[in-house]
Amino acid sequence: MLAPSSAGFRRLLPLLKPHRGRLAAGGLCMLVFVACWPLLASQAGQLIPAIGSGDFHRVLKVIAVALSLFLIQKVAQFGQDTLLAAPALQVSQELRRNLFARLQRLEFGALEKLSAGDLTYRLTEDADRVGEVIYKTIQDTTPSALQLVAVFGYMVYLDWKLSLATLLLAPLVAVLVSVFGARVLGAAERSQQQVSELAGLLGEAIGGLPLVRAFAAEPWLQQRFETEIDLHRRARYRTLRLLALQHPVVGFIEAAGILTVLLLGAWRIGAGGLSGAGFSSYVAALLMLIDPISHLTTNFNEFQQGQASLRRLRAIEQEPVEAPDRPGARPLAQLGGALELRDVSFGYSPSQPVLQQLNLRVAPGQVVALVGPSGAGKSTLFSLLLRFNAPQQGQVLLDGLDLQDLRAAELRRAVALVPQQTTLFSGTVAEAIRFGRPASDEQVRRAAQLANAADFIEAMPGGYGARVEERGSNFSGGQLQRLAIARAVLGNPAVLLLDEATSALDAEAEEAVQQGLQRAMDGRTVLVIAHRLSTVQEADHILFLEGGRIVEQGSHDGLMMAGGRYRDLCNRQLIRSFG
Ligand code: ADP
Repeated sequence: MLAPSSAGFRRLLPLLKPHRGRLAAGGLCMLVFVACWPLLASQAGQLIPAIGSGDFHRVLKVIAVALSLFLIQKVAQFGQDTLLAAPALQVSQELRRNLFARLQRLEFGALEKLSAGDLTYRLTEDADRVGEVIYKTIQDTTPSALQLVAVFGYMVYLDWKLSLATLLLAPLVAVLVSVFGARVLGAAERSQQQVSELAGLLGEAIGGLPLVRAFAAEPWLQQRFETEIDLHRRARYRTLRLLALQHPVVGFIEAAGILTVLLLGAWRIGAGGLSGAGFSSYVAALLMLIDPISHLTTNFNEFQQGQASLRRLRAIEQEPVEAPDRPGARPLAQLGGALELRDVSFGYSPSQPVLQQLNLRVAPGQVVALVGPSGAGKSTLFSLLLRFNAPQQGQVLLDGLDLQDLRAAELRRAVALVPQQTTLFSGTVAEAIRFGRPASDEQVRRAAQLANAADFIEAMPGGYGARVEERGSNFSGGQLQRLAIARAVLGNPAVLLLDEATSALDAEAEEAVQQGLQRAMDGRTVLVIAHRLSTVQEADHILFLEGGRIVEQGSHDGLMMAGGRYRDLCNRQLIRSFG
């Protein structure tokens, strides 16, 4: 019954391998637990005639044996549950770990396509559900199935004809269960999809609340939200209604089945095929089937829901990941920081080129400012320099080595990014600057000094141990930028990619950031997406990008004299904002 749809879960089996020892011990306990059931049924058969005989001692003996059996069984059950729980939980942890590792390696394109809320849902709720199924399968479904086999085996041993009659009722239950199971699966999948769409909308909404308020768009957002929760409620209700129908139907079939068996029992005793005591044992055994059958049906439903979750987790695995380093990728020696673009063309989709035949040489230590209208391809160029994307044509070279031939991790240590918007993970200030790299306290302090951040950090209670709140909300814009600069220079990169913040800071904060930048840039090759006149004026070389091409280049004075697109832009934007 489980076979055709269990393929997804079967692929998880190798994850159980390291836990063979515990599984074997748990399995042993499980066998003891299961074996006790037919023995108990046989005791039940003896108990009823014993009670009927009025012989107190005889009853006491049977009860003592039954009690001992129960004790052994419950101890074995404890062993089974605890021994099997650990590997089950470890498998679900492993699954989560693998998925997160996968997430970290996804291509940026794939990552942008998936919404943060949806991904969070998959890695929490879906992963939980799959973990639950793994746990239940090992710790509940398996012993229930074994109990079914053992107890039914005992019934066959008691009277095979009666058992055969009983067995004929089983397919009826099985057919009903699988018909419902398929429908529950469909409904569960729709309802999970709805939850994740809801999470996606919530993620968007929470980030955008100030904007929504600014546009007085609350009724619109409320309406969207209400539509979404309405769809969710309906999908969920459909699942619950199916589940609600399933329990009574299966329950009724079971009751009718048991009553039929009693009728058949009377016939078998009448025909002399079975003793009264035997029939008592048979009925006790039959009652012992109800529990495992009900566990198996419930677990089957959860299994179906888990199947939907597993499919959604597997979908992440279908997304393309960053290309691994080429075999024989070269380690980076001491870096000079010379950059070169040779005939580089790139587009996110092949039909729409974003960068077209770019050629550029940047000498070590040079500062190059990139200017141009939004959408010109400046950030895309950065993404090529960090090897987030690979050029479709041409080469990007660092010290004469093609980036594609380098190891990504080494390249990204050599090329550091100061993004436009500073994102900090919560933790301490020192941790935010280190960002997982091994660096001594002294190195962290030096990086902070270089970035002109040391003063404000040391003035904070706790200094480098002070907490960074989520998204760095306890720092001002200027402080965040200086922390980002410190983080970038900590690894002593040869190349600094600087995406200048567009949000204006007050003069004093601006000055502090500029000072940090000046020091951080010293001795490094710098490419800066410039928004400030002072930055372009001080650059050694300016590139004016438009439509993915370099349309003008030179020094500030030279370009102003030439009176082209650059001068227009300076007159329109840079000077008005900063002059
Ligand atoms: P700039 O930084 O100069 O504003 P970008 O490099 O961000 O320009 O964008 C250049 C072009 O590439 C734009 O047309 C933009 O829409 C497109 N683009 C940027 N990022 C992506 C992406 N991840 N997927 C598809 N298109 C993108």
